[in-house]
Amino acid sequence: MADQKRDYYEVLGVDKNASADELKKAYRKLAKQYHPDLHPNDKEAEAKFKELNEAYSVLSDDSKRSKYDRFGHSAMDGNGFGGGGFSQEFDFSDIFESFFGGGFGGGSRRRNGPQRGANLKYNMKLSFMEAAFGVERDITITKEDKCTVCGGSGAQPGTSPETCPTCKGSGTITKQQQTLFGMTMVQQGCPACGGRGTVIRTPCTACNGKGRKNIRKTIHVKVPAGYDNGEMMIISGEGEPGKNGGGYGDLYIQFVVGKHDVFTREGYNTYCEVPISLAQATLGANIEVPTIDGPVSYTVKEGTQPGDTTILRGKGITNKNRPSMRGDQMVRFVIEIPTRLTEEQKRKLVDFDSSLTDRNYSKKTGFFKRMKELFNI
Ligand SMILES: [Zn+2]
Ligand SMILES: [Zn+2]
Repeated sequence: MADQKRDYYEVLGVDKNASADELKKAYRKLAKQYHPDLHPNDKEAEAKFKELNEAYSVLSDDSKRSKYDRFGHSAMDGNGFGGGGFSQEFDFSDIFESFFGGGFGGGSRRRNGPQRGANLKYNMKLSFMEAAFGVERDITITKEDKCTVCGGSGAQPGTSPETCPTCKGSGTITKQQQTLFGMTMVQQGCPACGGRGTVIRTPCTACNGKGRKNIRKTIHVKVPAGYDNGEMMIISGEGEPGKNGGGYGDLYIQFVVGKHDVFTREGYNTYCEVPISLAQATLGANIEVPTIDGPVSYTVKEGTQPGDTTILRGKGITNKNRPSMRGDQMVRFVIEIPTRLTEEQKRKLVDFDSSLTDRNYSKKTGFFKRMKELFNI
């Protein structure tokens, strides 16, 4: 088991001397990439996410890390870290905060430092076939954006924000304070400009000096083939604008995929049930089987049994990550027993049935033989 596992540093993509900060950064980045909420039916992403959590739970703990550095995976197996569970020590709300709350602050949480804009989420309904083949859609979102009149500065056109005279643009002021140890200098956010470093003398009338307005924006979205119910697509830069020069957040589109009358899907495979008659199942037949591309001809084998399945390779749904690949279609044959027979049809069936012998019914014959043995009848 030990040699099948990937090296934890390799999993996180950092080198052996990585600092705790570098580890955390790498972990956050990958956790966002592979988080199950973004890939609800993707086993590969789920496995990656687990592997990632396991690696981080070990490397983020100094004592486990030093054991791992000395003994490798075997040290962890002995301590019960082999199972690959979720890291209990990491606060996931932290990820989601940076995910949907905007502001990937990190080290730059200074009040006048750049802050990335908030991410937005949009639910998009797709029909089964739209999801299978991809679709282009215009969506309209309401979001806060930079005021177009003042370009986001908040100052009336023709004027510009001025350097704050109180803090000289630094956003912070330094105060002398008497403490137990004598006079010390303490830094505070500038009260005059709120830490921005600039003040607006003539506010833009369109946005009242805020620099931002609620807008409705229509975005053309190209949804590639293959997305499944619950999965998300990221459109970068279509979130809300950042602050103090920070970039725009992203727009997350989550899909709600409708059901289909004929097909269901699991991952990239499609499933359908095809009813055939007793005679078709018994004698074999050439029939048409539906696929998402349209009907294809198929030869039902002689002696097809209820529930027999066949796989139509490459007739499933396009893999959204590898568009040259498609899943398969599973076809399950359901034999429909005829009902409401006329008296004449019933007579014919009885005649036919009485002509059959044990060798026509291998399952039934075997079953009753075993039953007889069992009960010594
Ligand atoms: Zn404005
Ligand atoms: Zn100031």
